[in-house]
Amino acid sequence: MGKHRLEGADDAVHIAIDLDNTVLDATSAHVTYYNLASGLSLTPDDANEFYIYLKYGWSREERDAVYAKYGHEIHWNSVPYPTAVNCLRQLAARHEISIITARPEMFRDVTVEWLKHHSITYNNIAFVENKLEVCVASKVDVLIEDGPHYAEQFAQLRKPIILFDQPYNRMVTSEYVMRAANWSEVMAHIDRLAEKPG
Ligand SMILES: [Mg+2]
Repeated sequence: MGKHRLEGADDAVHIAIDLDNTVLDATSAHVTYYNLASGLSLTPDDANEFYIYLKYGWSREERDAVYAKYGHEIHWNSVPYPTAVNCLRQLAARHEISIITARPEMFRDVTVEWLKHHSITYNNIAFVENKLEVCVASKVDVLIEDGPHYAEQFAQLRKPIILFDQPYNRMVTSEYVMRAANWSEVMAHIDRLAEKPG
């Protein structure tokens, strides 16, 4: 019996999926518009941090002003990671999918339109910073996410998380954290979790 096999999960599981830097390349989109706002010319490699605005020397308030101005363009112009759209389609055909993003409510419309534009189907969508609370309340079996703090919270509650590999989350290690470098690896983890016991 696999360490992370889900109880009774012989078929559908409930999968929560983050968007930014999990389904799509948020870093590149942010850097494009943050460069425009700042006059700097950082590359995505320069700014590969969970909190990109720190690389621009901005306070949280300065960042919020830039995000309010360019957020719509940032989210609309974000490019999905290779095979992510196809993999999401395959997952949606078999499992329950909840998109859970910490983007603010003001970007709900552009987010929903972007998902529609890329033909991504899902059962639920939530705009919330406390992902753990929502996942527990809605009985999520596994979260796919890049944020190191979410991985740590989930691991503490012994809930499995597939951590989409990013330079800023490599310090996170736990038996409940399954690392995925790309969407093929995400799919392999999901198959293992949903596998019929015995
Ligand atoms: Mg993210």
